[in-house]
Amino acid sequence: MALTDFLTHTPQPMVDGKGATDAGPRNIARDRQNPDILVPPQTDHGTLPNMRFSFSDAHNRLETGGWAREVTVRELPIATKMAGVNMRLEPGAIRELHWHTEAEWAYMIVGSARVTVVDQNGQTFADDVCVGDLWYFPPGIPHSIQALGEGCEFLLVFDNGEMSENSTFLISDWFAHTSKDILAANFGVPASEFDNVPKELYIFPSTVPGPLSTQQVPSPQGPSSVKYTHKLMEQQPIATASGKVRIVDSHNFPISQRIAAALVEVEPGAMREMHWHPNDDEWDYYLEGEGRVTVFASGGKARTFDFRAGDVGYIPFAMGHYVQNTGTTTLRFIEVFRSSYYADVSLKQWMALTPPDLLQAHLHLGDAAMASLSKTKVPVFGK
Ligand code: MN
Ligand code: MN
Repeated sequence: MALTDFLTHTPQPMVDGKGATDAGPRNIARDRQNPDILVPPQTDHGTLPNMRFSFSDAHNRLETGGWAREVTVRELPIATKMAGVNMRLEPGAIRELHWHTEAEWAYMIVGSARVTVVDQNGQTFADDVCVGDLWYFPPGIPHSIQALGEGCEFLLVFDNGEMSENSTFLISDWFAHTSKDILAANFGVPASEFDNVPKELYIFPSTVPGPLSTQQVPSPQGPSSVKYTHKLMEQQPIATASGKVRIVDSHNFPISQRIAAALVEVEPGAMREMHWHPNDDEWDYYLEGEGRVTVFASGGKARTFDFRAGDVGYIPFAMGHYVQNTGTTTLRFIEVFRSSYYADVSLKQWMALTPPDLLQAHLHLGDAAMASLSKTKVPVFGK
C-alpha cells in the first residue's frame, strides 16, 4: 500500500499536532476497535491498569455439548473481587451437578435452561429460565444447569476474582477419587455398583428433560421457600429519554445476598451519566452495541477504554466514570457489584444539592450550567 493510502485509510496515533504515524507492525483491526487506546482523549493521564478484557481473548474449553470460557483475575488482574464465565450448552446438554466456594449470579443471554438446587435442609428448587432471567446460588449449595429445547448461552458472575470454572466441586470428580469400598459403605450397596462411574464430566450431552412438572423429586422437607431465580425483564425499568435501567439486588431478589446488578440500556448519542459507586468495585459485561468509559482514578489519573459486545470491564471501588454510547444502536450492558444492595452517586445530583455559592467557589461554571443544575431531576436508581 502506498504511504498516502496508508495514512488515509488506517487510524493513526495522532491528534492536535501530537503523536506520529504508526508505520510499523500493528494490528489495525484492534486499533479500529479501540480508538481511545490508540488516541486517548487529551484529558487521559497517568499510569492505570488495564480495565478491559474480551471473552474473545479468553481460552475456550470445548466439550461435547458445549463450551465455557472465563475472565478472572488471571486474564484481567485488576478484577480481584469478581470473575465471569460465558457458557454455551446445546439442547439437552448438562453443566454437571456441582458446588463451589463462591456465590454464583447468572444472566441468560440466549435460549433457555433448567436449573436445580438442593439446599442444606434437603429442600428442593427447580425452575426453567429464559432470556433475561437470572439465577443466584449461594456458596456451597449444589446445583445443576441443563439446556432445554433450543440450547442456551449464559453469563455467570462469581464473587471472587480468583474463581475458576475448572476448580468447582464436581459430583463425578468426587466419585472418581473415592475408593469403591468407601462408596459401597456410604451407599450400602456392593462396590461393583460403581464400576461404570465416569471420570470428570463437567459439560456433557444428554436429552432434553420433560416438563418441569414431571421432573419434581418430592422431598420430606418439602420444596424450598427460597426462590433462586428472578425474571428481570418483568421488572418495570427506570426510564429516561436516554435509556433504561433495571436494578436487581437483595431487595427484590432476596437470595442474592452477595451480588447486586443493573441491566442498563443507553440509546445512540446518549450516555450513562458521570457517577461512582459507594459500596464496591463494578464488573461489567457488554451485551450489545459499542461504548466508551473513562475511569477517573484521583491523583490526576484517568484512562479511557472502548467496549463492545462480549467485552468485560472493571471499575475499582469509588472511581468516577461514565458510559457513552459511541455506536449507532442501543448499548446494552450489565453492571455487577459484590454487594447486597445497588448504589450509585450521581455527580450531577451531588452538585444540584450543594449550595450554589459553595459549588461556584470550586468550579466557576457558566450561568447556563448553574441554571441547568437547579432544574436537574436525577432519577434515583435503587429505590
Ligand atoms: Mn455453579
Ligand atoms: Mn457504574
